[in-house]
Amino acid sequence: MAEMNINDAVLTTRLDAVVNWGRKNSLWPLPFGTACCAIEFMSMQASKYDMSRFGAEAMRFSPRQSDMLMILGTVTNKLAPVLRTIYAQMAEPKWVISLGVCASSGGMYRTYATLQGVDRVIPVDVYVPGCPPRPESMLYGVMKLQEKIEKESLSMRKDHIARFYESLARQDALQAEKGLTSQQTIREMLMDAADRGAGTIF
Ligand code: SF4
Repeated sequence: MAEMNINDAVLTTRLDAVVNWGRKNSLWPLPFGTACCAIEFMSMQASKYDMSRFGAEAMRFSPRQSDMLMILGTVTNKLAPVLRTIYAQMAEPKWVISLGVCASSGGMYRTYATLQGVDRVIPVDVYVPGCPPRPESMLYGVMKLQEKIEKESLSMRKDHIARFYESLARQDALQAEKGLTSQQTIREMLMDAADRGAGTIF
């Protein structure tokens, strides 16, 4: 019988590494398209650019079945509570890519009605610049997220999400205490964060 080298039959690895390998190659996107960036996103999904090459073609419009939120377009203050609810409902672990200047900073809409960056209300993992970002840039953003996932530890992700859920509990308590709408509550939280010199409400 031929001799067998144990190294040919057994592969050793870390649990983190093998789990992250699975996670980064099976991302399920949830597009949150509110404006023109969503049109670029459509071409990224189509055959010329083809996001399925990155294992991320299983598009879902249900937060419960998605783990990669892609924010595509201007987000108003009125939409902020909706965005937070969608993020809260997504399966864990979950990641967020902010695509285009509107989502990342409010873009040219420096107005009271526009959220000056979605990272004020939810955690963002990757930012893609541009107005609009080209499909190639969007794909590059997905690749950057894959690199980030590769380096994560399993516990790191839990701490990251915990801060968000704490802020959600604060939001509910404040809303009940003051009898505000969810939009008014987030506005109060944003103003309070600005007074403290903090950029985010979580
Ligand atoms: S970044 Fe430009 S293309 Fe994207 S939503 Fe804003 S205005 Fe439209």
